Amino acid sequence: MAKVYAIAMQKGGVAKTTGCIHIAAALARRGLRVLLIDMDPQASLSTYFLKLLKKQLAAEQFQKIMQSTMYNLLVEGKIIEPVQLGRNTFLLPASLDLQAAELVFPVLPTTREKPNLVLAKYLSHYLQAFTIDVCLIDCGPSLGLLTKNALAVADGGVIIPVATEEMAFEVFPKMLETVQDVRTDEQHGSYAGLQVFRIIPTLYDGRISEDGEFLKQIQEYPGYQHLVYPEPMHRRAKYKRAVKQGVDAGYLDKEVAAYWDRFVETTQMAA
Ligand code: ADP
Ligand code: MG
Repeated sequence: MAKVYAIAMQKGGVAKTTGCIHIAAALARRGLRVLLIDMDPQASLSTYFLKLLKKQLAAEQFQKIMQSTMYNLLVEGKIIEPVQLGRNTFLLPASLDLQAAELVFPVLPTTREKPNLVLAKYLSHYLQAFTIDVCLIDCGPSLGLLTKNALAVADGGVIIPVATEEMAFEVFPKMLETVQDVRTDEQHGSYAGLQVFRIIPTLYDGRISEDGEFLKQIQEYPGYQHLVYPEPMHRRAKYKRAVKQGVDAGYLDKEVAAYWDRFVETTQMAA
């Protein structure tokens, strides 16, 4: 049985996409079959992987991939082929036009009844057809319909990266409200069993005293202390270098790989 996790937080730049890439890499190192879904119209996750594929594929093959994205699936109801990224890793890519989904879900006859549950209609097909163990959904920096669609299928729960800084910490309660909203919004489509899986303090720099203060505030957040992953994700230049080289940072730095290996092991994501 596949487990589905959404990686969500409405603040941009808190390492949602980076976390998604590295969790997927750690799971793949364990031989698990992973499906990545890009629910961000900015499509950073897709860009990261497709940039690599573009070098390997013929132009027309690549063109074909770009014509089969989450927009075609969710808005047009066209069953698209996932892009195979590795032996056990698959991607359902996004493109800029996915933004339109937020506008059309409430009005399209096929989606307007339950606009929060459009992805839910299609997901099980992919989990079964590709015998997926873990599905990771990368959300965009918003709490709109696309993010709600991701939350509504996340039976493993939502992973919330919170950067150890004021701007991220301030908007974190609103993220938790959205989780509650998806649990109870029967009118637009709800998922009563939605849980927070883990909160990961991210972009932490131990040399900066403010980072330490925000780390403590995240760790002591009332009602959620037990869900905060005890080791923050450290700010490291290797993460940016890795994006440039099109590898995961674990490939450049054993410590980075070990961090995400511990994450998937101790949280039992890889179980
Ligand atoms: P989000 O998906 O939340 O918008 P990203 O994962 O795209 O955030 O990260 C934003 C930027 O920060 C990217 O350029 C990424 O390479 C960089 N980044 C992410 N995590 C780290 C880290 N731990 N250390 C340094 N840079 C990071
Ligand atoms: Mg992102």
